Amino acid sequence: MRDLSLRLDLCAINTATLGHRSPIEEVIELVARHGFGGICPWRRDLEGRDAQTVARRIRDAGLQVSGYCRSTYLPALDKAAFDAALADNRRAIDQAAALGAACFVMVVGSMPQGSRDLPRARAQVEEGTAILCEYARRANVRLALEPLHPMYANDRSCLNTIEQALDLAERIEPSQGARPLLGIVVDAYHVWWDPHLARDVRRAGMAGRIFAYHVCDWLAPTRDMLMDRGMMGDGVIDLQMLRSQVEQAGYQGLVEVEIFSEQDWWSRSAHEVLSTCADRLQSSC
Ligand code: ZN
Repeated sequence: MRDLSLRLDLCAINTATLGHRSPIEEVIELVARHGFGGICPWRRDLEGRDAQTVARRIRDAGLQVSGYCRSTYLPALDKAAFDAALADNRRAIDQAAALGAACFVMVVGSMPQGSRDLPRARAQVEEGTAILCEYARRANVRLALEPLHPMYANDRSCLNTIEQALDLAERIEPSQGARPLLGIVVDAYHVWWDPHLARDVRRAGMAGRIFAYHVCDWLAPTRDMLMDRGMMGDGVIDLQMLRSQVEQAGYQGLVEVEIFSEQDWWSRSAHEVLSTCADRLQSSC
């Protein structure tokens, strides 16, 4: 396992960690000044901006782009809405290409409001991902499917385990020994509970399909299903164990901090958040 002490250049900050309170230009400067090696912007950070200009700014700050968040949900009640979601995702893939992002993060969605048809949502995710995969190939952008904790299975994601995401990736893009374009995000928050975690991380790594690694912590108790992610070291996840598994599986990319924390970390100063991330990456991850 890589030693992260004095190696913040191996670490990245997902801009959600700072609560989207400042313009991306300021966030880039802050993240670089604190010594991190990368940044993962969200589409909302680029609203009203030219992706090339933001890309140049990130490069000039000496940062890599560990990913670009995130896809528009794919499942829809009718074809028009499904096609609109695809079109939206194609625009985002173009932006990911302009940014030189290591991957475009796919949070795939689940049952549209009013639906109880989970198999249909899964089928639409498969169909949509296959279509976007072709587009991403031409844009030279890797797509990273992010399985989400099953507490989000009704709305945010009908992909809930690494195994399920890998099976989907293999069906759409069977391994042929070449560098795959379709892979996964391993996000500690979403997968730590999985009894097959070690096995499936190994499988993902052997297939060269781990495109990103996200960290934060699972707080006990968790007060909000979305907005109460913990700082690394404050919860119950064995983050050092997980990173050792991810890296033993061959992952050499950045370790990215992604914390949604409306009540706590988003109310603190960016400096405090980033300094704490830096400390905890080196002591608890
Ligand atoms: Zn994530």
